[in-house]
Amino acid sequence: MTQPQAPSGSKANGFATNGLAKENVNPRLRPIRNSEHSSESYEDLQLEFNPHLFSSLEQYLPPNMLNVPREFKVQYLRNILLRYSPEGERIRIQRHKEYREIIISNYLPLHKEIYTIHAEIFFVPSFLKAIRENTEESFKSIMTECSPGIYSFEILQPHFCRMLISEVENFEIWVHETKFRIMRPNTMNKFGAVLDDFGLETMLDQLMNGFISPISRVFFPEVGGSTLDSHHGFIVEYGTDRDVDLGFHVDDSEVTLNICLGKQFLGGELFFRGIRCDEHINTEAQSEEISDYYHVPGHAVLHRGRHRHGARATTSGHRVNLILWCRSSGFRELKKYQKDFSSWCVECKRKKKERRRLSIDATKQELLKRDVKSTS
Ligand SMILES: [Zn+2]
Repeated sequence: MTQPQAPSGSKANGFATNGLAKENVNPRLRPIRNSEHSSESYEDLQLEFNPHLFSSLEQYLPPNMLNVPREFKVQYLRNILLRYSPEGERIRIQRHKEYREIIISNYLPLHKEIYTIHAEIFFVPSFLKAIRENTEESFKSIMTECSPGIYSFEILQPHFCRMLISEVENFEIWVHETKFRIMRPNTMNKFGAVLDDFGLETMLDQLMNGFISPISRVFFPEVGGSTLDSHHGFIVEYGTDRDVDLGFHVDDSEVTLNICLGKQFLGGELFFRGIRCDEHINTEAQSEEISDYYHVPGHAVLHRGRHRHGARATTSGHRVNLILWCRSSGFRELKKYQKDFSSWCVECKRKKKERRRLSIDATKQELLKRDVKSTS
Protein backbone atom coordinates (compact mmCIF):
# COMPACT_ATOMS: atom_id res chain seq x y z
CA MET A 1 0.00 0.00 0.00
CA THR A 2 1.31 3.43 -0.85
CA GLN A 3 0.49 6.60 0.92
CA PRO A 4 0.74 10.25 0.11
CA GLN A 5 2.71 12.17 2.68
CA ALA A 6 0.70 14.84 4.42
CA PRO A 7 2.67 18.05 4.78
CA SER A 8 1.63 19.67 7.91
CA GLY A 9 1.84 22.02 10.77
CA SER A 10 1.94 24.88 8.33
CA LYS A 11 -0.85 27.35 8.33
CA ALA A 12 0.27 28.39 4.87
CA ASN A 13 -2.60 30.10 3.17
CA GLY A 14 -5.17 29.19 5.76
CA PHE A 15 -5.80 25.52 5.17
CA ALA A 16 -5.51 23.06 7.96
CA THR A 17 -2.79 20.46 7.74
CA ASN A 18 -1.92 17.70 10.11
CA GLY A 19 1.33 18.23 11.93
CA LEU A 20 2.86 14.99 10.77
CA ALA A 21 5.44 15.49 8.09
CA LYS A 22 8.46 15.90 10.36
CA GLU A 23 7.59 12.81 12.38
CA ASN A 24 7.04 10.83 9.23
CA VAL A 25 10.54 11.56 8.02
CA ASN A 26 11.91 9.95 11.17
CA PRO A 27 9.10 8.23 13.04
CA ARG A 28 9.85 7.06 16.57
CA LEU A 29 8.09 5.33 19.41
CA ARG A 30 8.33 6.29 23.07
CA PRO A 31 10.33 3.91 25.25
CA ILE A 32 7.51 3.76 27.81
CA ARG A 33 4.06 2.41 27.10
CA ASN A 34 1.07 4.66 27.67
CA SER A 35 -1.15 2.04 29.33
CA GLU A 36 -4.02 4.48 29.89
CA HIS A 37 -4.49 4.99 26.20
CA SER A 38 -6.99 2.63 24.64
CA SER A 39 -5.91 1.60 21.16
CA GLU A 40 -8.09 1.46 18.09
CA SER A 41 -8.84 -1.67 16.14
CA TYR A 42 -7.11 -2.12 12.78
CA GLU A 43 -8.71 -5.40 11.86
CA ASP A 44 -10.93 -4.03 9.13
CA LEU A 45 -7.92 -2.76 7.16
CA GLN A 46 -6.02 -4.66 4.53
CA LEU A 47 -2.52 -4.27 5.98
CA GLU A 48 0.74 -6.04 5.28
CA PHE A 49 1.43 -6.45 9.01
CA ASN A 50 -0.76 -8.09 11.60
CA PRO A 51 -3.50 -5.61 12.68
CA HIS A 52 -2.86 -6.51 16.34
CA LEU A 53 0.67 -5.25 15.98
CA PHE A 54 -0.73 -1.80 15.16
CA SER A 55 -3.05 -1.89 18.18
CA SER A 56 -0.27 -2.76 20.59
CA LEU A 57 2.28 -0.34 19.12
CA GLU A 58 -0.28 2.47 19.27
CA GLN A 59 0.32 2.73 23.02
CA TYR A 60 3.95 3.63 22.35
CA LEU A 61 3.15 6.54 20.06
CA PRO A 62 4.39 10.01 21.03
CA PRO A 63 1.64 12.00 22.85
CA ASN A 64 0.86 14.25 19.86
CA MET A 65 0.11 11.18 17.73
CA LEU A 66 -2.32 9.47 20.07
CA ASN A 67 -5.44 11.30 18.94
CA VAL A 68 -4.80 11.90 15.26
CA PRO A 69 -7.05 10.13 12.70
CA ARG A 70 -6.41 6.41 12.45
CA GLU A 71 -5.01 6.54 8.91
CA PHE A 72 -2.14 8.74 10.12
CA LYS A 73 -1.35 6.32 12.92
CA VAL A 74 -1.29 3.53 10.34
CA GLN A 75 1.11 5.47 8.15
CA TYR A 76 3.36 6.37 11.08
CA LEU A 77 3.51 2.87 12.53
CA ARG A 78 3.90 1.30 9.13
CA ASN A 79 6.97 3.46 8.44
CA ILE A 80 8.52 2.20 11.65
CA LEU A 81 7.68 -1.41 10.90
CA LEU A 82 9.11 -1.17 7.42
CA ARG A 83 12.31 0.44 8.64
CA TYR A 84 13.05 -2.25 11.17
CA SER A 85 11.80 -5.12 9.14
CA PRO A 86 13.36 -5.63 5.74
CA GLU A 87 11.96 -9.11 5.96
CA GLY A 88 8.58 -7.55 6.54
CA GLU A 89 9.03 -5.66 3.30
CA ARG A 90 9.68 -8.93 1.49
CA ILE A 91 6.59 -10.48 3.03
CA ARG A 92 4.58 -7.41 2.07
CA ILE A 93 5.65 -7.70 -1.55
CA GLN A 94 4.88 -11.41 -1.56
CA ARG A 95 1.44 -10.87 0.00
CA HIS A 96 0.64 -8.11 -2.45
CA LYS A 97 1.59 -10.36 -5.32
CA GLU A 98 -0.72 -13.07 -4.03
CA TYR A 99 -3.46 -10.52 -3.48
CA ARG A 100 -3.20 -9.41 -7.11
CA GLU A 101 -3.16 -12.97 -8.37
CA ILE A 102 -6.38 -13.78 -6.53
CA ILE A 103 -8.12 -10.77 -8.07
CA ILE A 104 -6.79 -11.29 -11.58
CA SER A 105 -7.69 -14.95 -11.64
CA ASN A 106 -11.24 -14.30 -10.40
CA TYR A 107 -12.29 -10.96 -11.85
CA LEU A 108 -13.77 -11.03 -15.35
CA PRO A 109 -12.93 -7.80 -17.27
CA LEU A 110 -15.77 -5.96 -18.96
CA HIS A 111 -13.70 -4.27 -21.70
CA LYS A 112 -10.76 -6.50 -22.60
CA GLU A 113 -9.68 -3.96 -25.22
CA ILE A 114 -8.52 -1.42 -22.64
CA TYR A 115 -5.99 -3.78 -21.00
CA THR A 116 -3.34 -2.97 -23.59
CA ILE A 117 -2.76 0.38 -25.30
CA HIS A 118 -4.51 1.02 -28.59
CA ALA A 119 -3.25 4.52 -29.21
CA GLU A 120 -5.84 5.55 -31.83
CA ILE A 121 -8.70 4.45 -29.59
CA PHE A 122 -7.30 5.86 -26.35
CA PHE A 123 -5.84 9.23 -27.26
CA VAL A 124 -7.07 12.36 -29.03
CA PRO A 125 -5.29 13.04 -32.37
CA SER A 126 -3.55 16.24 -31.16
CA PHE A 127 -1.87 14.37 -28.29
CA LEU A 128 -0.82 11.48 -30.51
CA LYS A 129 0.67 13.83 -33.08
CA ALA A 130 2.71 15.65 -30.42
CA ILE A 131 4.03 12.38 -28.99
CA ARG A 132 4.96 11.06 -32.42
CA GLU A 133 6.83 14.26 -33.28
CA ASN A 134 8.51 13.95 -29.86
CA THR A 135 9.98 17.44 -29.63
CA GLU A 136 9.75 20.15 -26.98
CA GLU A 137 7.92 22.35 -29.51
CA SER A 138 5.35 19.68 -30.29
CA PHE A 139 4.63 19.13 -26.58
CA LYS A 140 4.39 22.85 -25.95
CA SER A 141 1.96 23.23 -28.85
CA ILE A 142 -0.67 21.14 -27.04
CA MET A 143 0.02 22.34 -23.50
CA THR A 144 -1.02 25.14 -21.25
CA GLU A 145 1.39 25.93 -18.41
CA CYS A 146 -1.25 27.05 -15.91
CA SER A 147 1.40 28.00 -13.37
CA PRO A 148 5.18 27.28 -13.41
CA GLY A 149 5.64 23.49 -13.52
CA ILE A 150 1.95 22.62 -13.97
CA TYR A 151 1.06 21.50 -17.48
CA SER A 152 -2.40 20.69 -18.78
CA PHE A 153 -3.41 19.18 -22.10
CA GLU A 154 -6.18 17.19 -23.74
CA ILE A 155 -5.29 13.50 -23.81
CA LEU A 156 -8.10 10.92 -23.75
CA GLN A 157 -11.00 10.20 -26.09
CA PRO A 158 -14.44 10.53 -24.40
CA HIS A 159 -15.30 6.98 -25.47
CA PHE A 160 -12.22 5.58 -23.73
CA CYS A 161 -12.98 7.59 -20.57
CA ARG A 162 -16.46 6.01 -20.47
CA MET A 163 -15.06 2.52 -20.96
CA LEU A 164 -12.52 2.96 -18.17
CA ILE A 165 -15.18 4.31 -15.78
CA SER A 166 -17.50 1.40 -16.55
CA GLU A 167 -14.63 -1.08 -16.08
CA VAL A 168 -13.98 0.37 -12.61
CA GLU A 169 -17.73 0.26 -11.83
CA ASN A 170 -17.79 -3.35 -12.94
CA PHE A 171 -14.84 -4.10 -10.67
CA GLU A 172 -16.58 -2.40 -7.73
CA ILE A 173 -19.67 -4.55 -8.34
CA TRP A 174 -17.48 -7.66 -8.30
CA VAL A 175 -15.85 -6.50 -5.05
CA HIS A 176 -19.28 -5.93 -3.53
CA GLU A 177 -20.73 -9.25 -4.69
CA THR A 178 -17.77 -11.37 -3.65
CA LYS A 179 -17.21 -9.33 -0.45
CA PHE A 180 -13.52 -9.29 -1.39
CA ARG A 181 -11.61 -6.90 0.87
CA ILE A 182 -9.67 -4.60 -1.44
CA MET A 183 -6.88 -2.16 -0.70
CA ARG A 184 -7.81 1.42 -1.48
CA PRO A 185 -5.30 3.53 -3.46
CA ASN A 186 -3.87 5.26 -0.38
CA THR A 187 -4.77 6.15 3.18
CA MET A 188 -6.32 9.45 2.15
CA ASN A 189 -9.01 8.03 -0.15
CA LYS A 190 -11.77 5.74 1.08
CA PHE A 191 -13.18 5.26 -2.44
CA GLY A 192 -11.40 4.38 -5.63
CA ALA A 193 -9.43 1.40 -6.85
CA VAL A 194 -5.84 0.54 -7.68
CA LEU A 195 -5.83 -0.18 -11.42
CA ASP A 196 -2.58 -2.16 -11.18
CA ASP A 197 -4.29 -4.61 -8.84
CA PHE A 198 -6.91 -5.82 -11.31
CA GLY A 199 -4.94 -6.26 -14.49
CA LEU A 200 -4.23 -2.79 -15.83
CA GLU A 201 -0.56 -2.72 -14.81
CA THR A 202 0.73 -3.51 -18.30
CA MET A 203 -1.44 -0.86 -19.94
CA LEU A 204 -0.31 1.76 -17.40
CA ASP A 205 3.34 0.78 -17.92
CA GLN A 206 2.88 1.36 -21.63
CA LEU A 207 1.17 4.68 -20.88
CA MET A 208 4.09 5.81 -18.70
CA ASN A 209 6.92 4.55 -20.91
CA GLY A 210 5.53 5.43 -24.30
CA PHE A 211 3.52 8.58 -23.65
CA ILE A 212 4.44 10.28 -20.36
CA SER A 213 8.21 9.67 -20.12
CA PRO A 214 8.89 11.52 -23.40
CA ILE A 215 7.18 14.59 -21.90
CA SER A 216 8.64 14.35 -18.39
CA ARG A 217 12.13 13.91 -19.89
CA VAL A 218 11.76 17.39 -21.34
CA PHE A 219 9.95 19.17 -18.50
CA PHE A 220 11.07 17.44 -15.29
CA PRO A 221 14.63 16.06 -15.84
CA GLU A 222 15.87 17.42 -12.48
CA VAL A 223 13.46 15.22 -10.48
CA GLY A 224 14.08 11.95 -12.33
CA GLY A 225 11.67 12.68 -15.18
CA SER A 226 14.04 11.06 -17.65
CA THR A 227 14.51 7.86 -15.63
CA LEU A 228 10.95 6.90 -14.67
CA ASP A 229 10.86 3.15 -14.06
CA SER A 230 7.81 2.25 -11.98
CA HIS A 231 4.32 3.52 -11.29
CA HIS A 232 1.27 3.36 -9.01
CA GLY A 233 -1.95 3.81 -10.96
CA PHE A 234 -5.34 4.31 -9.40
CA ILE A 235 -8.79 5.80 -9.69
CA VAL A 236 -10.18 8.34 -7.25
CA GLU A 237 -13.86 9.14 -6.97
CA TYR A 238 -15.29 12.30 -5.51
CA GLY A 239 -18.81 13.50 -4.86
CA THR A 240 -21.31 13.99 -2.08
CA ASP A 241 -21.63 10.21 -1.68
CA ARG A 242 -17.89 9.57 -2.17
CA ASP A 243 -14.73 11.24 -0.90
CA VAL A 244 -15.53 14.95 -0.90
CA ASP A 245 -12.14 16.60 -0.94
CA LEU A 246 -8.47 15.81 -0.40
CA GLY A 247 -6.21 17.61 2.07
CA PHE A 248 -3.00 19.39 1.27
CA HIS A 249 -0.23 16.88 0.48
CA VAL A 250 2.64 15.84 -1.75
CA ASP A 251 2.56 12.65 -3.82
CA ASP A 252 4.76 9.61 -3.43
CA SER A 253 5.91 10.14 -7.02
CA GLU A 254 8.50 12.00 -9.03
CA VAL A 255 5.94 12.99 -11.67
CA THR A 256 2.16 12.81 -11.31
CA LEU A 257 -0.29 12.46 -14.18
CA ASN A 258 -3.86 13.30 -13.16
CA ILE A 259 -6.56 12.79 -15.81
CA CYS A 260 -10.22 13.68 -15.31
CA LEU A 261 -12.42 10.92 -16.78
CA GLY A 262 -15.79 12.52 -15.99
CA LYS A 263 -18.61 12.47 -15.19
CA GLN A 264 -20.76 15.54 -14.42
CA PHE A 265 -19.64 17.54 -11.42
CA LEU A 266 -19.20 20.94 -9.82
CA GLY A 267 -16.13 21.98 -7.83
CA GLY A 268 -13.19 19.67 -7.23
CA GLU A 269 -10.49 22.13 -8.34
CA LEU A 270 -6.89 21.29 -7.53
CA PHE A 271 -5.02 23.95 -5.58
CA PHE A 272 -1.24 24.16 -5.86
CA ARG A 273 1.24 25.72 -3.41
CA GLY A 274 4.76 25.40 -4.82
CA ILE A 275 7.44 22.70 -5.02
CA ARG A 276 9.39 21.72 -1.90
CA CYS A 277 11.91 19.13 -0.74
CA ASP A 278 11.27 17.08 2.46
CA GLU A 279 13.15 19.57 4.58
CA HIS A 280 11.05 22.54 3.42
CA ILE A 281 7.69 20.83 3.07
CA ASN A 282 5.97 23.13 5.57
CA THR A 283 7.34 26.47 4.47
CA GLU A 284 5.01 29.27 3.48
CA ALA A 285 3.90 29.52 -0.16
CA GLN A 286 4.84 32.63 -2.13
CA SER A 287 1.95 34.48 -3.76
CA GLU A 288 3.15 33.49 -7.25
CA GLU A 289 3.00 29.81 -6.23
CA ILE A 290 -0.70 29.88 -5.44
CA SER A 291 -2.83 28.57 -8.28
CA ASP A 292 -5.99 26.59 -8.97
CA TYR A 293 -6.64 24.07 -11.71
CA TYR A 294 -10.14 23.27 -12.95
CA HIS A 295 -10.68 19.73 -14.18
CA VAL A 296 -12.01 19.12 -17.67
CA PRO A 297 -13.02 15.55 -18.65
CA GLY A 298 -10.47 14.04 -21.05
CA HIS A 299 -7.80 16.53 -19.99
CA ALA A 300 -4.66 15.79 -17.98
CA VAL A 301 -2.60 17.81 -15.58
CA LEU A 302 1.07 16.86 -15.20
CA HIS A 303 3.21 18.07 -12.29
CA ARG A 304 6.10 17.08 -10.04
CA GLY A 305 5.14 14.83 -7.13
CA ARG A 306 6.71 17.34 -4.76
CA HIS A 307 4.42 20.10 -5.98
CA ARG A 308 2.24 20.64 -2.89
CA HIS A 309 -1.44 20.41 -3.68
CA GLY A 310 -4.91 19.32 -2.63
CA ALA A 311 -8.41 18.99 -4.08
CA ARG A 312 -11.30 21.23 -3.13
CA ALA A 313 -14.72 19.78 -2.43
CA THR A 314 -16.68 18.33 -5.32
CA THR A 315 -19.94 20.02 -4.40
CA SER A 316 -22.33 18.15 -6.66
CA GLY A 317 -22.31 15.26 -9.09
CA HIS A 318 -19.60 12.64 -9.35
CA ARG A 319 -15.99 13.16 -10.40
CA VAL A 320 -13.72 10.30 -11.44
CA ASN A 321 -9.99 10.80 -12.02
CA LEU A 322 -7.18 8.52 -13.12
CA ILE A 323 -3.97 9.16 -11.22
CA LEU A 324 -0.60 7.79 -12.29
CA TRP A 325 2.26 8.27 -9.84
CA CYS A 326 5.44 7.85 -11.91
CA ARG A 327 8.60 7.00 -10.01
CA SER A 328 12.33 6.81 -10.62
CA SER A 329 14.33 4.41 -8.44
CA GLY A 330 17.58 5.99 -9.62
CA PHE A 331 16.48 9.45 -8.57
CA ARG A 332 15.35 8.14 -5.17
CA GLU A 333 18.69 6.49 -4.53
CA LEU A 334 20.66 9.59 -5.53
CA LYS A 335 18.46 11.81 -3.40
CA LYS A 336 19.67 10.02 -0.27
CA TYR A 337 23.14 11.55 -0.70
CA GLN A 338 21.98 15.01 -1.61
CA LYS A 339 21.29 17.96 0.66
CA ASP A 340 20.73 20.80 -1.77
CA PHE A 341 17.67 20.63 -3.99
CA SER A 342 17.87 24.16 -5.33
CA SER A 343 17.29 22.93 -8.89
CA TRP A 344 13.64 22.35 -7.98
CA CYS A 345 12.87 23.25 -4.34
CA VAL A 346 11.94 26.91 -4.22
CA GLU A 347 13.06 27.24 -0.61
CA CYS A 348 16.47 25.58 -1.22
CA LYS A 349 16.92 27.95 -4.15
CA ARG A 350 16.06 30.98 -2.01
CA LYS A 351 18.48 29.90 0.74
CA LYS A 352 21.27 29.30 -1.76
CA LYS A 353 20.77 32.79 -3.19
CA GLU A 354 20.81 34.23 0.31
CA ARG A 355 24.08 32.44 1.12
CA ARG A 356 25.64 33.73 -2.08
CA ARG A 357 24.49 37.27 -1.31
CA LEU A 358 25.98 37.12 2.20
CA SER A 359 29.28 35.81 0.92
CA ILE A 360 29.47 38.54 -1.73
CA ASP A 361 28.70 41.13 0.95
CA ALA A 362 31.43 39.73 3.18
CA THR A 363 33.95 39.82 0.35
CA LYS A 364 33.01 43.43 -0.43
CA GLN A 365 33.46 44.40 3.21
CA GLU A 366 36.84 42.71 3.27
CA LEU A 367 37.98 44.50 0.13
CA LEU A 368 36.74 47.81 1.49
CA LYS A 369 38.76 47.33 4.67
CA ARG A 370 41.90 46.61 2.62
CA ASP A 371 41.22 49.69 0.55
CA VAL A 372 40.95 51.87 3.64
CA LYS A 373 44.18 50.41 5.01
CA SER A 374 46.13 50.95 1.81
CA THR A 375 44.98 54.54 1.39
CA SER A 376 45.60 55.53 5.02
ZN1 LIG B 1 14.44 22.52 -0.04
